[in-house]
Amino acid sequence: MTKQSYLEVSCTDIGPGCGAMFRVATEEEFWEVGRIHARLAHGLQEVPPELAEQVRKATRSVEVDVREG
Ligand SMILES: [Zn+2]
Repeated sequence: MTKQSYLEVSCTDIGPGCGAMFRVATEEEFWEVGRIHARLAHGLQEVPPELAEQVRKATRSVEVDVREG
């Protein structure tokens, strides 16, 4: 097994009322998923800078064991 690092953020850490949790491999993917979630779940057409900052602060790096092959 090898370790793969992921970015993880929980919507609960940013604001109450949404229990969504995301784990993605790259920062690009992270913002892609985040923007879609903000639009669909929170009705935000775009992520305002101050919210992006909160998201950045709430983001953790996690290491997960993955099986090769
Ligand atoms: Zn949410």
